[in-house]
Amino acid sequence: MAGFPTPTVVLSECLGIRAVRYDGGIIFDEFVETLKKYVTVVPVCPEVGAGLGVPRNPLALYRDGNAVYLIDLKTGEDITHRVKRYAELFLSDLVDVDGFLLKSGSPSCGIGDSKIYGRGGAVLRRSNGLFAELARSSYPLLPFESEKRLLNFGIRRNYLTRLFAISDLRISLNNINRVETVVELHRRYKYVLMLYSPHYLKILGKLVAERSHIDLHKLVNLYRRYFLEALMKNPGRGSYANVFTHLYSHLKDRMSIQERDYLKSLIDEYRVGRETLKALIAYFKGFIYRLGDRYLEEQKFLEPYPPELEVGIPV
Ligand code: SF4
Repeated sequence: MAGFPTPTVVLSECLGIRAVRYDGGIIFDEFVETLKKYVTVVPVCPEVGAGLGVPRNPLALYRDGNAVYLIDLKTGEDITHRVKRYAELFLSDLVDVDGFLLKSGSPSCGIGDSKIYGRGGAVLRRSNGLFAELARSSYPLLPFESEKRLLNFGIRRNYLTRLFAISDLRISLNNINRVETVVELHRRYKYVLMLYSPHYLKILGKLVAERSHIDLHKLVNLYRRYFLEALMKNPGRGSYANVFTHLYSHLKDRMSIQERDYLKSLIDEYRVGRETLKALIAYFKGFIYRLGDRYLEEQKFLEPYPPELEVGIPV
């Protein structure tokens, strides 16, 4: 399978970069440590960036009316604007970023799991931290996850597939001077796009087919936008089974009857949850290598990111 791009990831600084937690601590996570070898890290600590020291008083999010405030739990000081101002500056300076990996549960960095308290001190709900919320609205089409959620294989696979695809898209299309680059990109992501959205695969395919009638700059902008939109909806088991069925159709004429029956039964087993994705991919790779199918060997669907990034999760 082909090489990988180097994505640029905004990473919470307390995740193994610097001891910046409110209590002076740092967190080491096996997956994050592995990921650092394959990406360019842009570290961020919104609280230290806003001028708070280490150690510092713990903070929490409070809701009052329709607004949410970031409050120093010991002094009662409202530091919402300080952190917001820093976050806005940080986000406006960012260039060429492909995704975010932020610390779970933090009132600044949490993704969907930061506690929001009411006036009486009860937890009203869980939501994004202050920085995470601003970052998500600045980059609505990029992947965001926390180190905790990435312990789930499905979530991690989806995050990494999007992260490396978006990085490939960015690197391929930046400073592009030949239209064939778009054609090649589209070819290697055909089955990834089919997995995420057959609807967008069709739109992108049409765009590529009509490339000679479209100005290159316009083509690149449209392709980039639709590609990012295509990856927004997480694929389920049925979507994977659909792609495997297409791969099977591509290969079947070069297989023995026994091999065909075997692959078909594996797809059926996978569809009903009796076979794993990892095993099915391994079987397909074996057939593809044996048949020497260069077109499928180039497909990002079968190896969308370095396999070493599946560290620490039983599949
Ligand atoms: S969770 Fe975010 S704000 Fe808190 S220490 Fe880590 S990087 Fe800083």
